Amino acid sequence: MTAQLIDGKAFSARIRAQVAEHVTRLKADHDLTPGLAVVLVGEDPASQVYVRSKGKQTVEAGMASFEHKLEADTSEADLLALIDRLNADPEVHGILVQLPLPKHLNEDLVINSIDPAKDVDGFHISNVGLLGTGQKSMVPCTPLGCLMMLRDFHGSLSGLDAVVIGRSNIVGKPMAQLLLGDSCTVTIAHSRTRDLPEVVRRADIVVAAVGRPEMVPGDWIKPGATVIDVGINRIDAPEKGVKEDGSVKTRLVGDCHFDSCAAVAGAITPVPGGVGPMTIACLLANTVTACCRAHGLAEPEGLTA
Ligand code: NDP
Repeated sequence: MTAQLIDGKAFSARIRAQVAEHVTRLKADHDLTPGLAVVLVGEDPASQVYVRSKGKQTVEAGMASFEHKLEADTSEADLLALIDRLNADPEVHGILVQLPLPKHLNEDLVINSIDPAKDVDGFHISNVGLLGTGQKSMVPCTPLGCLMMLRDFHGSLSGLDAVVIGRSNIVGKPMAQLLLGDSCTVTIAHSRTRDLPEVVRRADIVVAAVGRPEMVPGDWIKPGATVIDVGINRIDAPEKGVKEDGSVKTRLVGDCHFDSCAAVAGAITPVPGGVGPMTIACLLANTVTACCRAHGLAEPEGLTA
């Protein structure tokens, strides 16, 4: 391996420590405790794990955590009424509705009913528009985490060629906007892109957000490029043996083939332990930012885009 490892676990711990420091100051100087409300509808096991982890890290950072667990058959009217109450609650500075929602609920309607100033996921249409026009917004957590890692590693990103593989509203598009905001020359690739290997070979920065295990091999990577692997894919790992129920054990891999990419790249994020831990750290950072903005206070430096 020639690439420098970008350690998201260590970096996210630094971000969380910065958040906690800011929370301490907000309490001491302004008697303010930033609060994050997380709404979970239904019992999706992966969502339950995320929500637990978000609540735990919120409390560890000294903030208030409000968890709202609703039955899977909750009506849209009841969910919207809860969001209205959270919008009006001065102790709640950030609201996150865990996605995906059960099929009978209209996700766009629900997300767009959150007060944009409290939309710490950055998915509200107003925040999408603000980000797209280069104005101050709440920025989606995963791309914000990627941007922080890139800024930390490179310093200035100005003039660098960046390729984002994936055009989802959650990762690919906001990632591209953020890189553009930092003056990269940005290409967004997707499933219809012609000659993806050649497109990727031009890039000084590659952000892969596809959801296809180890799709990007090392021979697509320009020597010395920085590779940010957003993908989280679970694949069979027969080398690890079998579980108690007889099924093959699994392991997590990214969208990039780690060993071959790391042999060519200048820097790379691992999976797990790269982008993943940054997402919750940025959620906490966004909650502190939202609290400061709500009270007209200076925003924490280095925690926003
Ligand atoms: P989506 O499925 O919403 O988007 C995937 C994108 O990849 C689409 O734009 C699609 O193109 C593109 N794509 C699919 N196949 C190809 C291909 N063969 N060549 C080029 N592009 C292709 O995924 P998300 O953006 O939500 O997530 C992407 C990955 O990131 C997933 O593995 C997810 O688990 C992970 N993730 C990780 C997070 C973290 O915290 N680390 C947070 C969020 C996501 P098209 O639009 O043309 O269909």
